[in-house]
Amino acid sequence: MELDSEQYFSSYEDLEVHKLMLEDGPRTLAYKNAILNNKAYFKDKVVMDVGCGTGILSIFCAQAGAKKVFAVEASNLANLAKEIVKENKFENIIEVIHSRVEDVVLPNYMKVDAIVSEWMGFYLLHEGMLDSVLFARDRFLKDGGEIFPESAAIYIAPCSVPSLYNNWDNLHGVSMSSFARELRASKGSKPEILTIKPEDLLGAEVALCWVNLREDEAHDLNAYSIEHVVGASKNGYYQGLCIWFECIFPKLPDAAGDGHTVLDTSPQSPATHWKQTVIVLPQQQEVEEGEPIAFQLDMTRADPTSRRYNLQMTMLDPEAVEHPLPCSCHMTKCIL
Ligand code: SAH
Repeated sequence: MELDSEQYFSSYEDLEVHKLMLEDGPRTLAYKNAILNNKAYFKDKVVMDVGCGTGILSIFCAQAGAKKVFAVEASNLANLAKEIVKENKFENIIEVIHSRVEDVVLPNYMKVDAIVSEWMGFYLLHEGMLDSVLFARDRFLKDGGEIFPESAAIYIAPCSVPSLYNNWDNLHGVSMSSFARELRASKGSKPEILTIKPEDLLGAEVALCWVNLREDEAHDLNAYSIEHVVGASKNGYYQGLCIWFECIFPKLPDAAGDGHTVLDTSPQSPATHWKQTVIVLPQQQEVEEGEPIAFQLDMTRADPTSRRYNLQMTMLDPEAVEHPLPCSCHMTKCIL
């Protein structure tokens, strides 16, 4: 079912959704660090928080010294955000605007120094909210303004999916392999939101795309595609493709801490509520260390206004794929 705007915004009126996000430590702390480590930058700045929800990111900006924050929220959560702003005594700095950002008009058509937003969905782009952030950038951000985060990338790696493949041949002494096969089949080609452990990864990741929030346009987000060959990092069962993302925040002059703040949702990083997105193979393949695994992944927006993408995986013959060098796989043409 397609999410229309009304359904989309009312889904954010469920407080459980906000509880999940607020309690997601790696998520919330990445924003806190990115903002509060840049106090030198935020001091006396005008900021817009696109999709403020409970207002937490706006409050971080106010704590970092912003002189004005426009906290824009389309759903009725805007009313609660106003209360939370008061509870934190920032009502003189944070102005909650109950509106879609696309409909906002700022006083005197003013522009803002920075935009903060937490727009990421499963596999980064699900929900299509980044379109609204890019709209806000074009409409409200001063030339040379900052965007938190400023870039993002999607990564893919082959993996095992033990929860759908393993251990079903002996469930309390009963073989349930047929059940597991039907369970996998019933999921069709729909990606699963699962936790993949680092040890379930079967090869190095490859980037499907980099999104540059300063420059990209909404139509740049319509389709991404990759053909790739990777050598299996160990003997095991190739059972799916694991997809995750990372977001990188600006590091500005006089920032505290070293380097850019990064929010990384990979299996090797502390768990977030996004988990990982997994395309499960209908049939597993046993692979040996160094054996080439070749795949194509197409991530295509269902239509230009859709909040959903189709994720299409195609298994390829490694010999048929143009092969980047150097490569970790043991294919003859790599060794040559
Ligand atoms: N910033 C909050 C909430 C993030 S969830 C936090 O970090 O906890 C994203 C929020 O953006 C939701 O509350 C959703 O209703 C809002 N949102 C999404 N698209 C929007 C748009 N176009 N205009 C205004 N709000 C939007």
